[in-house]
Amino acid sequence: MPDAMVAASLSEATSGGTTQQVDVAVVGAGFAGLYLLHRLRKAGLTTVVLEEADDVGGTWYWNRYPGARCDIQTIDYSYTFDPELESAWKWSEKYATQPEILRYFGFVADRYDLRRDIRFRTRITAATWDQALERWLLTTSEGATVACRYYIMATGCLSTPKPPEIDGVKDFKGEVYFTGRWPHEEVKLAAKRVAVIGTGSSGIQSIPLIAEQAEHLTVFQRTPNFALPAHNGPAPADRVALLEGDRAGYREQARWSLAGVPWPQQTAVSWQLSDAERRERLDEAWAKGDLVYILTQLWADQAVDVDGNTLLADLIREKIREIVKDPETAAALTPHDHPFGAKRPCLDTRYYATYNRPNVTLVNLRQEPIKSITASGIKTDERTFDVDVIVFATGFDAMTGAIMAVHPITGRGGKSLSDVWANGPQTYLGLTVAGFPNLFMITGPGSPSVLSNMAVSIEQHVDWVVDRLIAMREAGFTAIEATETAQAGWARHMADCATLTLHRLANTWYTGANVPGKAQGVMPYTGGVGPYRSICNEVASGGMLGFRLTGPNVAEQCNDGEIVRLQPDVRLVLNMLAEMKLPPLESFGAQGARDFLAEFNAARPAGRPVGEVVDGTLPGTDGPLPYRLYRPATPGPHPIVVYFHGGGWVLGDQESDDPFCRDMCRRTGMIFVSVGYRHAPDHRFPTAAEDGYAATRWIAEHAADLGGKPGPVMVAGWSAGANIAAVTCQLARDRGGPQISGQLLVCPVTDCTFDRPSYNDNATGYFLTRSLMYWFWDLYCSPADRTDPRVSPLRGKLEGLPQALVVTCEFDPLRDEGVAYAEALAAAGVPVEQVNARGHFHFSFTMVDVVITGVSGRVQMAEALRRFAGLPSERRQADEGVRPGQTASPHEIASAAE
Ligand SMILES: Cc1cc2nc3c(=O)[nH]c(=O)nc-3n(C[C@H](O)[C@H](O)[C@H](O)COP(=O)(O)OP(=O)(O)OC[C@H]3O[C@@H](n4cnc5c(N)ncnc54)[C@H](O)[C@@H]3O)c2cc1C
Repeated sequence: MPDAMVAASLSEATSGGTTQQVDVAVVGAGFAGLYLLHRLRKAGLTTVVLEEADDVGGTWYWNRYPGARCDIQTIDYSYTFDPELESAWKWSEKYATQPEILRYFGFVADRYDLRRDIRFRTRITAATWDQALERWLLTTSEGATVACRYYIMATGCLSTPKPPEIDGVKDFKGEVYFTGRWPHEEVKLAAKRVAVIGTGSSGIQSIPLIAEQAEHLTVFQRTPNFALPAHNGPAPADRVALLEGDRAGYREQARWSLAGVPWPQQTAVSWQLSDAERRERLDEAWAKGDLVYILTQLWADQAVDVDGNTLLADLIREKIREIVKDPETAAALTPHDHPFGAKRPCLDTRYYATYNRPNVTLVNLRQEPIKSITASGIKTDERTFDVDVIVFATGFDAMTGAIMAVHPITGRGGKSLSDVWANGPQTYLGLTVAGFPNLFMITGPGSPSVLSNMAVSIEQHVDWVVDRLIAMREAGFTAIEATETAQAGWARHMADCATLTLHRLANTWYTGANVPGKAQGVMPYTGGVGPYRSICNEVASGGMLGFRLTGPNVAEQCNDGEIVRLQPDVRLVLNMLAEMKLPPLESFGAQGARDFLAEFNAARPAGRPVGEVVDGTLPGTDGPLPYRLYRPATPGPHPIVVYFHGGGWVLGDQESDDPFCRDMCRRTGMIFVSVGYRHAPDHRFPTAAEDGYAATRWIAEHAADLGGKPGPVMVAGWSAGANIAAVTCQLARDRGGPQISGQLLVCPVTDCTFDRPSYNDNATGYFLTRSLMYWFWDLYCSPADRTDPRVSPLRGKLEGLPQALVVTCEFDPLRDEGVAYAEALAAAGVPVEQVNARGHFHFSFTMVDVVITGVSGRVQMAEALRRFAGLPSERRQADEGVRPGQTASPHEIASAAE
């Protein structure tokens, strides 16, 4: 509807009352709102910014408590959209104080003359989408209405302070302050008894300064946090040189980095470093005083693996004990309830040392919870503390608080956002919500937001939104809305990403755990700033995938679908491989492909340590075959798994699946013997199958000599190796042994037909291509032999085979023949479980330290092997957090058939 008709209609509806009409209404005049206004104006869209405060700055307007500073270095925490602005402003410190940051926002507002379009002291209290008018109608605290085509919430992730959960605050006769709403006038604390409740970031920043002023400071701590010295001062010369040497390049690197600050991807893993090397790395990071550095640069597995994380957390705990003199206080200040980094660590200035002061007392609320606040102070279960001042540093209702505070937000068909989000925020890209046309959120839940340098994330969101509005205008569209399919797909992708990091193992404000009654779940996008940016770009370049666009004079456009169906780390690996622009593997020839693979494997992170790795040879049918044995560190004898590597019967050797064998050896507590069977084209069919059988027989007969448990063995394999494992089971049944108690077949080759849908669906783009499979078959087996069960076990007799776990991957040409084999085994009465790993590709499970999301599948494989061996389940607590079934769903074929 044109603006004039909207005006007439609104005037009627409001009985002639005032309604401001604009193209875009932005709520919030912080970092995001200011940049939005600047860009929207430049795009020629009429815009008003509505802001509750009486000036610009957002976070930095409200948070005036002593010690308030940023914790991302200020050279990184700045606008980057205008190089002239960058050179016009100089930060005085590595981490600027709140007053300096607030001055910066004032400077920006003046420079671009922004204030004239900002309505201060105006709070938005409700918002309704009027479908007929195609406008959002915003209700303000002043009573006036704003009608806008697009409603952009730049209301901030950390702008709604959490109310205290303690009875009696109103009875307190002294002064009460909230760090998130600190007064503008000076607060005098000298000669006063002060209580600070809360030891999150605001508490940690303010406590040392309050302690310096107060007569006595009592800190009430419920949950200790990791804090690291900021070592504030001038911006570090090396970082400044890097920035000034190539400003545009530096900024671009930040935009594509994981956290929004240009640090490289760390490659060394914790177990490759000695204790001394790890300590040295921590000491270096401790001296640097850089949050993103310590969160990302020590070792590659620190943020994704419980063991790698514990090594780091233990070193930091040591530091706390070194600084805090009283052991009991040190113990209370030391976090044990979350992995380091799973909760935002704080940057401090003399925080821990403050507890050595005689005028500071720490009260551990885990031991003596607060009962109430009285007229004179604070009462715990055990003591009464009389104080003059109470400071609440109790944090924020993060990410959703400010959005939900506008209530109701009513979308299409009367849908209320609070109903849609009753079980947690649902968004598409953290930017939009299905059912709420033309509503955008800047750094909303589902985007990297608080897990990143917000400056980078805010600019990316603002640019993306404004670019879309411009494109829509050019195409004649007036309404945009996310589809339910896209939103559900995003939720799945968010959950997949969450399994990559350790955030899932902590109760934090990232998960909503700090607010009683709030729905729980990891709210920010954990897949990283760069990957997120590329996804947003792909949505736009893919015809606005997942959005419905409509307009009065154009045909509706809806390119529905999910933007990411691959697991996040698989997507990264495939993007990396695509960037390498490798020629097809088969074009190298057999030896060339082997050399390439050896080089590729050498560049991969080393596998994890196991008890012992022994290389040996065993007698094959025509001479010795090499093997590599992986023994667990636990006392033996252990059950034995005979393992066959992948490589299309042509490539690989007993060492080529080393990380996988090590991982499975550790998870199962079993000996893995990886067999070096002979390869095509030098040794064609049925050599690999016969070698596999001969090796299994010998290993079973020599189990005790190898340190294993005598009795049945298990077989396992991946790809062509899984083919050999499956064939070995059939041969063992038919040739009188050895006894095999279970078979683990990972992405097995089971049949010689290539017409199943997965061969077409995944013919290219997932590294194992259809043409590579053709090449493998051609080198190994002539067409006349291909229906022989020794290469196409699906065509063999399946009755009487050992129980099986068949694992297939969604994006694998071999997927359907794996499923077919599992179904055929079930039909033949063999107990079988089949796992189809969603979003995974052929290499997911063997790229152990690259495809982290493969862990849930490997947990299931280990469990199956333990079951085959008659051992009890042994899930580790860390694995429990992986929530099996999230990335791979087990499927009992037999019971499903029932
Ligand atoms: C103490 C502190 C330190 C931080 N340090 C860092 C850091 O170092 N690095 C980093 O990346 N991030 C940091 N953050 C996160 C910080 O919030 C963001 O970096 C950034 O400032 C957010 O900008 P914004 O414009 O999105 O939101 P905000 O700055 O929160 O601005 C939102 C504005 O919207 C207004 N508003 C909200 N609801 C309404 C409504 N209904 N009606 C009218 N107005 C409304 C609020 O009054 C507020 O002014 C910090 C946060 C805090 C609290």
